[in-house]
Amino acid sequence: MPRTMRFLAISCLTACLLAGIAHAAPVSEQRLLAAGSDVDNWLSYGRDYSEQRYTPLDQINAGNVSGLGMAWYFETDTHLGLQSTPLAIDGVLYFSGAWNTVYAVDGATGQMLWTFDPEVPRSKSITACCGVLNRGLAAWEDLLYIGTLDGRLIAIERATGTLRWSAQTTDPNQAYSITGAPRVARGKVFIGNGGSEFGTRGFVSAYDAASGELAWRFYTVPGNPADGFENDAMARAAATWSGEWWRYGGGGTVWDSIVYDPEFNQLYLGVGNGAPHNRRIRSPGGGDNLYLASIVALNPDTGEYLWHYQQVPGDTWDYTASQQMTLAEIPWQGEQRKVILHAPKAGFVYIVDRATGKLLSAEPYTTVTWASGYDLDTGRPQENPGQDYDGEPAMVFPSAMGGHNWHPMAYSPDTGLLYIPELDMGMEFNEIDAVDYQHLRRHYNTGYELSGKAYSQAFTQAMLSHLPKAHLLAWDPVRQQAAWKLPHPYTHNGGVLATGGNLVFQGTSDGRFIAVRADNGELLWSFPTETSVMAGPISYRVNGEQYIAVTAGRGGALMMNMGRSYPTGNPNNRLLAFRLGASGSLPATPVAERPLPPPMPEASDEQIAEGRNLFNRFCARCHGADVVGDGSIPDLRYLAPVWHENFASVVLDGLMEQAGMPRFDDVLDNAQVDNIHAYVIARAHEDHALRTDQGWLARARSYLIDSAAQLAAWLVRRDAAAD
Ligand code: CA
Repeated sequence: MPRTMRFLAISCLTACLLAGIAHAAPVSEQRLLAAGSDVDNWLSYGRDYSEQRYTPLDQINAGNVSGLGMAWYFETDTHLGLQSTPLAIDGVLYFSGAWNTVYAVDGATGQMLWTFDPEVPRSKSITACCGVLNRGLAAWEDLLYIGTLDGRLIAIERATGTLRWSAQTTDPNQAYSITGAPRVARGKVFIGNGGSEFGTRGFVSAYDAASGELAWRFYTVPGNPADGFENDAMARAAATWSGEWWRYGGGGTVWDSIVYDPEFNQLYLGVGNGAPHNRRIRSPGGGDNLYLASIVALNPDTGEYLWHYQQVPGDTWDYTASQQMTLAEIPWQGEQRKVILHAPKAGFVYIVDRATGKLLSAEPYTTVTWASGYDLDTGRPQENPGQDYDGEPAMVFPSAMGGHNWHPMAYSPDTGLLYIPELDMGMEFNEIDAVDYQHLRRHYNTGYELSGKAYSQAFTQAMLSHLPKAHLLAWDPVRQQAAWKLPHPYTHNGGVLATGGNLVFQGTSDGRFIAVRADNGELLWSFPTETSVMAGPISYRVNGEQYIAVTAGRGGALMMNMGRSYPTGNPNNRLLAFRLGASGSLPATPVAERPLPPPMPEASDEQIAEGRNLFNRFCARCHGADVVGDGSIPDLRYLAPVWHENFASVVLDGLMEQAGMPRFDDVLDNAQVDNIHAYVIARAHEDHALRTDQGWLARARSYLIDSAAQLAAWLVRRDAAAD
């Protein structure tokens, strides 16, 4: 035996014994099919094939949760954010972190057993829309699977983290990325991808779980008709598009939800938005643009199309149907119906019959202005006039962030309620001139003006009357209405777990991990997490003891874009585990330093305005709207002097590319970067003045003269700055 292999064998033996997994059973098909009643384990992303994220465990319950405490925490070496739902298999937790690093940790002690780093090229961050993050893993037999930012599907050995096989699932020359968890069923691994806004065409692939051989591929939007269609489903879809959509890729990426339904042997895809978002640019002659914003059902063995239900025909607001699909059986008009429960970005809870794809219910779970409702006979929405920003700016609810995004929801068969991390927020959409539209591959294309131009009257009124809010929302699918709502102090809160102990767990962006009564929403318990939490919690059992675990670390599109997250500094990402009677705590997070901005450079108002527009197009999706960052990556208002001195080198020459800051020399020149820099410094001075200048009210009054919306935005920023 070569020395390295002997070393691996010995270290595995040690690790396996330490973890008590020497006799760990493979994750067989039978185990996955029975995962719902396997209370010790959390075997797949949504716990079992139903993806209800409900554990029957009730050792921790509404009566004793006040005695819950932190048993241990495991800290990673980055603070780039965690979205990962861990798997819990025979006493070991497996989760994915920034840059797709995989960790195996003892479930009882938090001791690390192994890590696996797929060595994703750091330049890939340019087409990672929302941080270099990953939502989870899949398990099958003795293997774990992860999809990587650069489009690989990788199988590693669960006992050791050793590479078994790797398949490139995307064209590496295109701007695809993977952040979603793979799913496994019937001996195949299913993997989608993201990158709509960067000019990609969505598809899902199935690979043989053991060998990594490609089994089938299903595209979600049609390609160029001149190349021929892959199947009849694509030919039918092409009839609903116009113009030369394929030049933009079309979008429709399946970047999160893929659900296998063992009762019908169907695979459901949650298909994403159109790209660019603006339908007048994407498909100038109109049309439904199949299969955007749809649930598509496939035969998992062959990839053959079975049925679809399109929620948002001709999507023009980034309304993905990618969000979590949950399978349930609910009483419906006197009979039991097997349904998909779905609360995607568009703001409606859709209840869809799993056998046929027929829409049973679509009721708004948050503020919705783009549609007044659905015709249940046709399944089509009634779009409200003026909301598609054709010529006139439109204030639209939900925003492009959605009324609910990827953050996992949960369904409890005990209460019959669906628990949704809701986001009640609108956004102004401004048309751009289609003639001026520049589609930039590798960069983020929406096809509308991002905020930064003058705010409209509608936006002004909406901002003042309806500031962003967020709730943990319990939805009764049978009565088709909310059962209760727990308001949160900040927007953009984490995923949800429901338990047999009449509890719902959720992490919040203001830095708490909370437990509430599942039946009435009463807040029962709270733990300070010292950072924002985005991911979905899990529950598992080791040696008869129930644990709750969650990954904690801010980042991702919502926090990066909105900036309102845990108010102090930014600790490294952590996995936290809780059990009754434990009393651990986390080290206090040091307050982030806020260096003063350098003096304002020579720049005209026009140059600063150009800097703002360029910032909004190229920088804001990571560094935050109005330059208010979430801290998981640098808040540019608080750059140390050295970064101001090297600003152009960072942006144009890739000085910090290895840390994940991409280079922009393909789209920006020196003069433009100077203007961006001037805008950033101007914003730093503005907010520094807000934090220190007691005369802020007078300053705010002067803004009121220009625009009440500016005032509202200013007040929100002031509160954030004061934190
Ligand atoms: Ca999108």
